[in-house]
Amino acid sequence: MTRSRIGNTELISDLNNRLVLQAVRVAQPTFRAEVSRQTGLKPATVTSIVNSLIERQLLRETASPLPADTTGQRFGRPPLMLEINRDGKRILAIDLEPDHIRVGLADLLADMQVYREQPIDRFDNPDVILREVLQLCRTVLGTFPRKNLLGVGVSLPGLIDRQNGILLSSTNMPKWRNVPVATILQKELRAPVRVERAVHLAALYEMWSHPEHQNRKVLVISLRTGIGASLLLDGQLYVGAHGLDGEIGHTIVDINGRDCDCGSRGCLETFVGAPAIVARARALIADGKAKSLSDRTRGGTVNMPEALYELAREGDADCAHLVRDVGRYIGIAVANLINLLGPNEVVICGAIDAAEELILRAIREQVNQSALPRMRDGVVVRAAAEREKLPLLGAAVLIAQDLFELPELRHAEMPVASA
Ligand SMILES: [Zn+2]
Repeated sequence: MTRSRIGNTELISDLNNRLVLQAVRVAQPTFRAEVSRQTGLKPATVTSIVNSLIERQLLRETASPLPADTTGQRFGRPPLMLEINRDGKRILAIDLEPDHIRVGLADLLADMQVYREQPIDRFDNPDVILREVLQLCRTVLGTFPRKNLLGVGVSLPGLIDRQNGILLSSTNMPKWRNVPVATILQKELRAPVRVERAVHLAALYEMWSHPEHQNRKVLVISLRTGIGASLLLDGQLYVGAHGLDGEIGHTIVDINGRDCDCGSRGCLETFVGAPAIVARARALIADGKAKSLSDRTRGGTVNMPEALYELAREGDADCAHLVRDVGRYIGIAVANLINLLGPNEVVICGAIDAAEELILRAIREQVNQSALPRMRDGVVVRAAAEREKLPLLGAAVLIAQDLFELPELRHAEMPVASA
């Protein structure tokens, strides 16, 4: 249902419900009086909204954690506080990455209660991969009653039609052309499905979990199979025309470089994308180097980047050299973005856990070398605490945000290009 179709009274009541839920979420547990102060709603209005939200099992009352005398009530019980009834509903979150699928069952605060992941072959047909996704969903859902499922949020790579839930194309998954992901999943899961690009969802979760980003410019860089960027601009998610932006993986770093799957050549992804890292690691092995990597992967390429990162951290010189080189290239892209956009903070998310310090150090060193001094001063470059799960968590927020007043995160009305 679009906002414009809701009647005026209903719209205001819907807005007030969201305001109250959001005020409770960021301050919980909190008192009704505080909610009234934060939202500017009259105490009587807050009481009536709170009662209806408790009835709908979205809010619940909880005993104050404060000792009775610090609440000003020396005698008797302290007044009840409010918190989100995180168990009132569940959200199914799916992250379809070219080499991995991740599925989680989240509560209303977007915390994962059940989680499963598995590697996939990105050259498989979409119907094969979607069957694996659905199987993982069934495992995660178990006996959970579908009527308590608020919705399903899906993180997708590549070019999407978010209104119709279609994956139009993905450079890293060449067989995916106009696949109606939402329709297929909705039919099986019997719950509303919404899709969004992975890198936007990573930024969405950053916003949700860091209210202080409201007044800051934050760059979120996603290092997964591909590499992307998203910009949070004083509490708004920047979205380009056609819903596309942040394709730093396809910015060109070598005009004479190798062909890229996107049709161009010398793109950053041909240096630091997962397939490029695998190719470079294989070339090392073919040269008789990185023997430990060849032993650990037993000549295969499954989990090759992860094995490479692990060995680099363990001190293998050849692996560490390659990982530092990857970090340098990413650092050049980050430095360019800092020069262009002047962010306060750069957040890196991705499957780099094992070699995080090595890669972060290389990125920071490159930023110090390449970004303009006045622009890089004070810019924090850090890894997201949630690592590669950021888009999955963002997929849960995509559904949860329908309940909370987060207008700055709404960009779904953007026009979308058709393939
Ligand atoms: Zn490219």
